This record gives sequence, structure tokens and C-alpha cells, in this order.
Amino acid sequence: MRLVLLGAPGSGKGTQAALLKERLGCAHVSTGDIFRKNLKKETPLGLLARSYMDKGALVPDEVVLKMVSGRLLEPDMKAGFLLDGFPRTIAQAEFLESFLAERGQALDAVILFDIGDEALVRRLSNRRTCRSCGAIFNLLTLDGDGHSCPACSGELYQRDDDEESVIRNRLKVFHDQTQPLIDWYGKKGLLSAVDASQAPEAAYGDIAAILKRHGAS
Ligand code: AMP
Repeated sequence: MRLVLLGAPGSGKGTQAALLKERLGCAHVSTGDIFRKNLKKETPLGLLARSYMDKGALVPDEVVLKMVSGRLLEPDMKAGFLLDGFPRTIAQAEFLESFLAERGQALDAVILFDIGDEALVRRLSNRRTCRSCGAIFNLLTLDGDGHSCPACSGELYQRDDDEESVIRNRLKVFHDQTQPLIDWYGKKGLLSAVDASQAPEAAYGDIAAILKRHGAS
């Protein structure tokens, strides 16, 4: 399957992608994760991306497209993929469409994670990620001390861009630049929405039903 997970920051794309990756056995590509890995290693790409990420702005399309086209050509993508956080602009969506068409391929579905802004701010400001295994948790529902990962005991940290003023800007950027994709994919008949304010297990159930309609087992 070739899927795009489309939704505002904090809508649960990363959590669902981790579950879906297991189920579908295909590659999970998170452009945000790729930027964060580059940032940690202080590569030129990471240092360039940081100036945008710190403000909650989008990294320019030409930088993202160069990085993503390299990733899309890697062998593990042949079995299908889950794109999480890409595309985020119409230019990126157009690029993806022609990149796939040139190879006789197309997306199977775009899953929209539907949720209001206030719920997102609450979620993001309570989001914690494990430094060791990358698992994502929410302090509001986490059964533990909020400092160590319940899965592997690694250290839990708050992403710099989950600070409230940055969150507000990321949501504005989502509405201005990414929301037009909802219409764009809707007109192509590719879009299915899930209520992303539900608990992860319930949202997963809805996504599984959508995928079944698209022929996934
Ligand atoms: P995410 O983890 O998906 O929320 O992404 C974190 C940050 O990485 C975003 O706020 C952007 O600065 C940058 N980023 C990730 N994906 C993209 C993309 N497709 N286009 C532009 N910037 C991106």
C-alpha cells in the first residue's frame, strides 16, 4: 500500500504510523524524524532545517523534495510506504504525484486525521518522546512518572517545537499551507477522514476499516 497520513501536528500520525507499519509491513517515512536525526548528527541538512523547525515554519520545498526523492528511491519503498508529515504543501503533493506516475505508480489512499486546534495544543504540550526507543506518550494518559519510558525505561523528553508559542505557529502553518491538500486530495477521490480526537486504539480501528475498503488485509 502507498499511503499518506495527513493531519496537523499532534493529530496522532506518528503513533498510528508505528502501529500501521507493523500491520502492513511497509516502510514508514517521517520527514520530521529525518530532519531530527540530521539535527542530532549536526549534518548540513539538519543545521539548515533547524532554523525553520525552531520557529515552527516549514523547511523550504526544494530542500524537502531533494531529501524525499532520495528516500523514495531506496529499495525498501518498493513494497509500499506510509508517508507521515509529507506532503505538506501543494508543491510537495504535485511532486509526489508525478514522481509516482513516472514509475507507473499512484497513492492508494490519503488518511486525514481530523481534530480541533485546542485539543491539539493540549496534546502537544503534554507530548513526550523516548530518547532511546522513540515511542511517543502523552502525560495526560501516561501511567508512570513522566520521566522514564514505560516500554524501555529510556529518558522521556519534550520536543523543542512542542513549546506553546511554537505549537501555535505550527498550527497556523498547517492551516495556511497544508490544509489546502485536503481539498486537493478530496477532488482526486483519495481522501478518507478519521476522528483523531479518539483514543489511539479507536482511531486505529477506524483506519484499519478504511484500509480494508482499499484491499489491505
Ligand atoms: P513533524 O515531526 O512532522 O511535526 O515535523 C517537524 C518539523 O519538521 C516541521 O515543523 C517542519 O519544520 C519540518 N518538516 C517536516 N516535514 C516537512 C515537510 N514535508 N515540509 C516542510 N517542512 C517539514
